Amino acid sequence: MSQGIVENLIQQLMKLPGIGRKTAQRLAFFILAMPDEDAKSLSEAISNIKQKARFCSQCFNITESEICSICSDESRDRKKICVVEEPGNIFVIEKSGSFKGLYHVLLGALAPIDGITPDKLKIAELLERVKTNGTEEVIIATNPNTKGEMTAQYLKEVLTPFNVNVTRIAYGLPMGSDIEFADEVTLRKAMEGRRQL
Ligand SMILES: [Zn+2]
Repeated sequence: MSQGIVENLIQQLMKLPGIGRKTAQRLAFFILAMPDEDAKSLSEAISNIKQKARFCSQCFNITESEICSICSDESRDRKKICVVEEPGNIFVIEKSGSFKGLYHVLLGALAPIDGITPDKLKIAELLERVKTNGTEEVIIATNPNTKGEMTAQYLKEVLTPFNVNVTRIAYGLPMGSDIEFADEVTLRKAMEGRRQL
């Protein structure tokens, strides 16, 4: 067995967030010991997600079709839009079961210093939805850190001309953290305790 192929897998795994060399090594040897079928399924899943996944044309969630399953679910409360930074945040909020409206993914947060200005995010698309869909409440669930707060304040300003209630989810979450890492209970509490912005 060549050391090259193992080292290559370790290097690839280390590109993932939160994976250092030690963990990458452990994972590489775990994969090596996996049954062939499982290893194949894993590599196919990675390859599929890059080939088939795209953004929902309405909310920018990840989907395989033009419109995601949430946007096309008629039983959801279409008067409420929850704004998040990344598609992954939807997954966490859905798991908490605390929200039955629609979502809007900004695909980032404002960071003017890094060149992330409002036109780089899906903000114009959000305003268009609010304008045309009779939205009654926009719940801002950006991360409780500097960028997320700046984005929330900006959204509050640009949404003011519209006749819409703008709320911000409450954070039992520690400031400076990321929604991605919140547990379900904390997130449900945060959603229930949302306040007027
Ligand atoms: Zn969608």
